[in-house]
Amino acid sequence: MLSKPLPAYASGTSERPLLGQTLGANLERTVARFGDREALVDVATNRRWTYNELDVEIDEAALGLLELGIGQGDRVGIWALNCAEWVIIQYATAKIGAILVNVNPAYRAHELRYVIEQSGMRLLVSATSHRTSDYRSMVEQVRGDCPRLGEVIYIGDASWHELLARGSRADHQRLEAQAATLSFDDAINIQYTSGTTGFPKGATLSHHNILNNGYFVTERIGFTEKDRLAIPVPMYHCFGMVMGVIGSFSHGAAVIFPSPSFDPEATLRAVQTERATALYGVPTMFIAELGHPDFASFDLTSLRTGIMAGSPCPVEVMKRVVADLHMEQVAIAYGMTETSPVSTMTRIDDDLDRRTSTVGTVMPHVEVKIIDPVTGRELPRGEHGELCTRGYSIMLGYWDEPERTAEAIDAAGWMHTGDLAVMDDQGYVNISGRIKDMVIRGGENIYPREIEEFLYTHPDVADVQVIGVPDERYGEELMAWVVMKPDREPLTAEAIRQFCHGQLAHFKIPRYVHLVEGFPMTISGKVRKVEMREAAVGLLGLDDVARIRHA
Ligand code: AMP
Repeated sequence: MLSKPLPAYASGTSERPLLGQTLGANLERTVARFGDREALVDVATNRRWTYNELDVEIDEAALGLLELGIGQGDRVGIWALNCAEWVIIQYATAKIGAILVNVNPAYRAHELRYVIEQSGMRLLVSATSHRTSDYRSMVEQVRGDCPRLGEVIYIGDASWHELLARGSRADHQRLEAQAATLSFDDAINIQYTSGTTGFPKGATLSHHNILNNGYFVTERIGFTEKDRLAIPVPMYHCFGMVMGVIGSFSHGAAVIFPSPSFDPEATLRAVQTERATALYGVPTMFIAELGHPDFASFDLTSLRTGIMAGSPCPVEVMKRVVADLHMEQVAIAYGMTETSPVSTMTRIDDDLDRRTSTVGTVMPHVEVKIIDPVTGRELPRGEHGELCTRGYSIMLGYWDEPERTAEAIDAAGWMHTGDLAVMDDQGYVNISGRIKDMVIRGGENIYPREIEEFLYTHPDVADVQVIGVPDERYGEELMAWVVMKPDREPLTAEAIRQFCHGQLAHFKIPRYVHLVEGFPMTISGKVRKVEMREAAVGLLGLDDVARIRHA
């Protein structure tokens, strides 16, 4: 008799209960346990803090904000690349229950104005400038259009020092009184996430959401107070501020910022000089580090673990991270801003194959299921469908957008991720792509991810992305954008097809190949496939085909 296949559903258990604390209370616990240990190193400005020292500055900033009339539920923006002040404001706002609004440092005036207004921001902490970004002049440009925005504090200038000085003169008991009014289910953070269309949506997260996610993520890679984590990923994104900073601080580990924005050499150097035990990154960051011309000259033997996440993680790159970066216990995490972010993750004791080729199993206290995107019904294990997740990690909602919230979170509390995934018999999950990225060629569903993985095994290919482009005959055809390894003969479309021949089904073999230096990317490391598709239409002269309408 055939046994019925298991449903693609998993619920994460743990001996450790969820933490029922505010973020501020959690930090105080760490300070009490590990006050003299190093908490934060800002390499670019050569500054470092122990937990005791950092706690003093966080309290000064928190009291300074209270003195300026900021209170529970008020929105406070932060617009800066990675720096110590980002962390100070992150915890200062949490301690008084203000809602931190992360503003993407790549934004320009128009987008800045949108998030200030959409969130109803009262106070903004901003960088002054960095390279070609003149943050101060953009702030001044939009300020007049934002009547609710009162104070702007610029990091490093007199207004910043005044904030701390004001706080240092204030009565510390105000902070304790304020803490007593907070609840761990309060909103404390808005993270704007942009879909491929429309204005960004403000995922609104509570203490409970992000404290627990940060804690359980680093728990899974065995963090203790002895760990030292290098964070080259941006703080405005959950990977930096939740998995990175909250993940470290909840265990008493140290955070190291190698540079304000990602720089492969600065990252390798910071790992070496700061003896980092852990390193985070999106796949393209690890690719850039491994490909650095002086890679072999760095001593990276202090590394033990780390996380690759944020977009599909190529198996070959993961293997090099284990072998060449010494990250024997590296993990892959899968998640999204709206879910705090992590829903599944590999374990350090999973076998190498699972650790490099899956996004692991469900996180503690979280549920995942895979459904048929059309009928909404649960699928059996082994079938591709939409991944949904539920639990403590689901955001409170999109800020001030109940309709968009209701489109994402169903009546039973499941967040519909828009990601295609498959779960195996042991509960390991694979991400097969975005529902929107799936290519349908002549009626065959193709997951670009599968072809990308195959092309990564080509000895001359450093990085690759596969997209669907319009085609009169098949509806869509495949196109591969390839970044070559240095000093190789340029690959032709014919050579790539030869490589695939006999290895991939004919309909999965890319028709077009385009050699590039890099891909259009968001600064959180996501490849902009929509933009690639638009460019490809122009490159291939497919405007007429692209205009063909479909029912
Ligand atoms: P964000 O909200 O910016 O963190 O983006 C979340 C999206 O990133 C998810 O919905 C996935 O499409 C993608 N993503 C994150 N982690 C992974 C991963 N490990 N593998 C594949 N895709 C991922």
